[in-house]
Amino acid sequence: MRIRFWGTRGSLAKPGPTTVRYGGNTSCVEVRTADGTLIILDCGTGAHGLGQVLATAGPQPIRGHLLITHTHWDHIQGFPFFAPLFVPGNVWDIYAPGGLGRRLEETLAGQMEYAYFPVTLEQLGATIHYHDLVEGVFDLGDVQVTTHYLNHPGLTLGYRLQAGGAIVIYATDHEPHALPQREASSASSAGSQVLSVHREDQGHVEFLRAADLVIHDAQYTAAEYPQKVGWGHSPMEYAVDVALAAGVKRLALFHHDPMHDDGTLDRLVEACRRRVIACHGALEVFAAAEGLVIELSKAGGIAPSGTERTASATADEVDGSNVSGATVLVVDDEPDIVDLLIATLAPEGYRLLPAHDGEAALRLARAERPSLILLDWRMSGRDGLEVCRALRDDPDPDLRRVPVVLLTAQMGEENIAAGFSAGVTDYLTKPFKPSHVRSRVRGWLLRSRQDGAEGSSPHAESP
Ligand SMILES: [Zn+2]
Ligand SMILES: [Zn+2]
Repeated sequence: MRIRFWGTRGSLAKPGPTTVRYGGNTSCVEVRTADGTLIILDCGTGAHGLGQVLATAGPQPIRGHLLITHTHWDHIQGFPFFAPLFVPGNVWDIYAPGGLGRRLEETLAGQMEYAYFPVTLEQLGATIHYHDLVEGVFDLGDVQVTTHYLNHPGLTLGYRLQAGGAIVIYATDHEPHALPQREASSASSAGSQVLSVHREDQGHVEFLRAADLVIHDAQYTAAEYPQKVGWGHSPMEYAVDVALAAGVKRLALFHHDPMHDDGTLDRLVEACRRRVIACHGALEVFAAAEGLVIELSKAGGIAPSGTERTASATADEVDGSNVSGATVLVVDDEPDIVDLLIATLAPEGYRLLPAHDGEAALRLARAERPSLILLDWRMSGRDGLEVCRALRDDPDPDLRRVPVVLLTAQMGEENIAAGFSAGVTDYLTKPFKPSHVRSRVRGWLLRSRQDGAEGSSPHAESP
């Protein structure tokens, strides 16, 4: 596999003398494999330069795959300027996370409405196929692609590409679900990295497992991060820690903050390397730079992650990515919070059921069998953990496995561990942002729909 960085900056393009070495263009990475498969990861402003090269050099017409992590501006702003899309005869397959009525094609068309751009989506000359993705595994040419949800305000997918015995992972626009309370550098040796007890953080490490190269969000430093919690980006120290824990060979720090100039990035890379040494790790760390090319070739095979699903990943094939209409139970003893959550989720088209105590929550869950439960922890009477334990012991298999997202302001390690041992699926931390609530709810509805489709029919055992 050959990887080339065309855009490495996060949030906003930042060209100029202070970003000459690491680059000013936003996210765009080109991947080529031995059989000629062309995969482009994100379509930020870096896609302009790539498009010029593709359109003027190499075989024509072009057949390519564009994998978009999510549709925030910095990941799609190069799309209307990507020359190969204008050429008749070229064929492009475009993939991005789906899940609601508004599909990828409409979202991309949105930034090309006449108020913003002179050419509409329909005027692009190439043949374009759109695919709404969920979590899963699928093949593009000789590449096996595994998708995994990241933690970002806006449903975002990470991509794991495996070809020719090499693995590269693209995981940008992600932040930790929780940070460990102890410092990682206190770990005594490689492999004993201190990790968050949050299951989603551990799932993230499994997603990165044994990769030859991980391209990871590293927008902030640990010192900057406390001011940026909830913005959906990682402190670079966390990127180092998860890469070490996952046994990764090389880590490319990516999605550079517009405020981090070349000199700053040099110093931050050095600090990350010292962190690896302090952990006795063998990880190679560098900052992704525009124009940098990396060849990954593998003699010995690498064991794939053990957590891969075999479900088809494209919505077009499973027709399971539209979760509007799903029933969501919203439980909190503060009516204002229930109202807020319902107002936040109502535009998504869900069927929303409010409850204000644990008893009512259990009654409604048994009567209505929701696809997802948002459950407050601290309630008088039966609290959230008691409700969750009762659900996990229920005779109805649907209730035993319904995703439960616990609403809490207490995210200490002991609290997180207590929730997971009570059967909680995930957390939403108060106070929440609407974008977080929406992306978390959509992600779990899509995951649970897939689980239902993969296992025996979810309603087969009901009377
Ligand atoms: Zn971004
Ligand atoms: Zn984003």
